[in-house]
Amino acid sequence: MPHVSRRALLAAAAPLALPRALRAQSGVFDCDVAIVGAGAAGLAAAHELRALNRSFILLEARGRIGGRCFTDTSLGAPFDAGAVYIHWAERNPWRDIARTLGVAAVDSETITAPSRFYDNGAPSAGRGGRAGFRAVSQLLDTDVAPVPDVSIAERLSVLPDGQGGGTAIARMALGDEPENISALDYARLWSGDDLVVPSGYGDLVTRYGGGIDVRLNTPVSAIDTSGAGVALTTAAGTLRARAAIVTVPVGVLKGGSIRFTPALPAETQAGLDGLGMGALTKVGLKFNGARFGLAPGTDLWDRLGPRASFDFECWSYDRDIVIAYFGGDHARDIIRRGEAEAVNIVLEDFARMVGPDARQAFARGVLHGWAADPWSMGCYSHALPGHADARAKLTQPIAEKLFFAGEATGGEGFGGAMTAGGAWLAGREAAREAARM
Ligand SMILES: Cc1cc2nc3c(=O)[nH]c(=O)nc-3n(C[C@H](O)[C@H](O)[C@H](O)COP(=O)(O)OP(=O)(O)OC[C@H]3O[C@@H](n4cnc5c(N)ncnc54)[C@H](O)[C@@H]3O)c2cc1C
Repeated sequence: MPHVSRRALLAAAAPLALPRALRAQSGVFDCDVAIVGAGAAGLAAAHELRALNRSFILLEARGRIGGRCFTDTSLGAPFDAGAVYIHWAERNPWRDIARTLGVAAVDSETITAPSRFYDNGAPSAGRGGRAGFRAVSQLLDTDVAPVPDVSIAERLSVLPDGQGGGTAIARMALGDEPENISALDYARLWSGDDLVVPSGYGDLVTRYGGGIDVRLNTPVSAIDTSGAGVALTTAAGTLRARAAIVTVPVGVLKGGSIRFTPALPAETQAGLDGLGMGALTKVGLKFNGARFGLAPGTDLWDRLGPRASFDFECWSYDRDIVIAYFGGDHARDIIRRGEAEAVNIVLEDFARMVGPDARQAFARGVLHGWAADPWSMGCYSHALPGHADARAKLTQPIAEKLFFAGEATGGEGFGGAMTAGGAWLAGREAAREAARM
């Protein structure tokens, strides 16, 4: 038996005995940066880290990439279950990405036909008209006057039918009730031209992520920043990285399905507490070719009462699909009933407007209830009244190694919040910061 000196034993054991900080430098990290979530933000972060020559591992809970950008083809033709519009296209990175990838993106105005308005299925003149919407927009425009950090409902209460216009914007654009949304947060959003992608926004995002290595079906359940670097727990084991960029939606973070050790700093938690998630929902209805006299691109707006409404977008791109949009508590209630009932409720309302033939011509439907989806827990974020600073709080890096990025932190001054373009900008920024630190 060879003699082994105490010195040799210590040398052999050295890697294990080293303090964690030193082990970090001797290569125990699996990568420089772990990215959690492969939506617009996570994919942008991955592209940027690759350009900066940093190693990364991208972990995604779903069996697909794209997150809330998802083009559903289950009805025989593509339709976007999540993001549709490349908003503020003049500066939106997805416009250039589409060009680079050779994907067509067209002005949304070119595919729409005049809208029709209904009250509980009966034709109506529409509420407030353009003048009403102009009055609402002006009260929510910081270029016109400072907008206070109160709810949209309170801000618009000075208008005769402020609640009507405000409710439409809040529910159908933001997915929540006007009482729940900070008017100032909304007022900060960028505006501009809207483009649409006939082959699907979700499909565009998926193509963009095509060359990125992603570990699918790998939800992260815990993130520990107490030692050197960051340890991320998944069912497939623990991953160690020097830093982590977390792009999971605010709804998921608020739901607590990822455990943080130590607990998130008070500032970050206050940021999360000050944000809500809307419930914008879509139901796709497939028909057998009947069009009920409606031109492709027609929107049917049905106001069912003060707390509920539907928008039916008919035959976009000349496809045999109608997409019903609805938001707020009305949507939460319908989602709870499950897909079959949701499809039935929506079809029933559509038939009240276009006639009973709709039932005969109906083939099948699909529900996209993002508010009940465990990997999104809502459509997109908004600041709660009095919490317009919440996004800034969430954006603060933690211990110089944990970064939150996504639509909730999107774009300079948070003008890109809620959108896929903002998510991309936030992901790229987080990657740059992680690489710098
Ligand atoms: C109905 C609807 C309509 C919309 N319309 C538009 C629009 O017209 N234009 C627009 O710009 N935006 C729109 N949006 C918003 C847009 O889709 C989002 O802002 C954007 O896609 C968010 O990107 P993200 O990367 O921040 O988050 P996500 O796309 O949600 O990506 C986060 C990823 O994290 C994953 N994840 C969650 N939890 C975990 C976990 N524990 N471990 C690992 N991975 C996890 C998720 O599966 C997801 O893939 C819409 C959204 C919805 C729902």
